[in-house]
Amino acid sequence: MNHEIRELAKRYHLSAISSGKFNPPEGLSNEAYLLELLRTETALRQENATKERIRQAKLPTYKGFEEFDTNFQRGVTTYQLEMLSKLEWLEQLFNLILIGPPGTGKTHIALAVGNKAVRAGYNVAFTTMDNLMHVLKTAEISTKSAARVRWIKKCDLLIVDELGYLPVSKIEANFFFSLISEIYERTSIVITSNKGFEGWAEVLGDAILVTALLDRLTHQCQVLQFTDQSYRFAHRKEIFSAEG
Ligand code: ADP
Ligand code: MG
Repeated sequence: MNHEIRELAKRYHLSAISSGKFNPPEGLSNEAYLLELLRTETALRQENATKERIRQAKLPTYKGFEEFDTNFQRGVTTYQLEMLSKLEWLEQLFNLILIGPPGTGKTHIALAVGNKAVRAGYNVAFTTMDNLMHVLKTAEISTKSAARVRWIKKCDLLIVDELGYLPVSKIEANFFFSLISEIYERTSIVITSNKGFEGWAEVLGDAILVTALLDRLTHQCQVLQFTDQSYRFAHRKEIFSAEG
């Protein structure tokens, strides 16, 4: 392709041309050629936008609904999984709270939701409670944290993993409450916790704040209670057997 066209395409960020991915068949009419060019550009931009959303979501690993065994985890039915994977609840701004002991699949489901949503075009942010506290506290002094908080605030779906494992200070609890209050009317929030709601007051150290928090979160909310034994423990790998 002509050098000047390449230079101009670069200047105007027409990646279909500057990336060399636009290879139309010979003999197209002007109109068909232009349409082909615009289609290639659109597809590339969508692909890049998806990559960027996946990067920003910071989902630590891929977990899918299809790998989740509901025979093992009786707290969640296949119907509930199907409804979750359809994401209509996200469109309707429902929240999702996953409660249960360690190793029972809470993070798995949270990640499956996140992966599905990010690929469906939603802006997603995954964070542990601990990391969320860190970015909220350091947003004033760290540009990296500030950028993360900005992303979290403009997300369609915020996933907070592991509320309850690590203690939360009074200041942190207030930061958390302010964030949820600010976003809950336009963002779906997924929270996983090893503690039931009664335990949240203890974790966040303030019963009144937790009542107000739960009031916001549970107004439109699906709560799933995970039961039974740990999948991790039942499927653990051992390096040597009892008998050698
Ligand atoms: P939790 O967050 O409740 O502590 P995880 O979701 O991290 O538990 O689950 C621990 C491991 O076991 C993960 O690798 C997860 O994929 C797997 N796992 C848990 N429950 C199931 C299940 N019902 N079906 C398939 N894999 C499961
Ligand atoms: Mg977990």
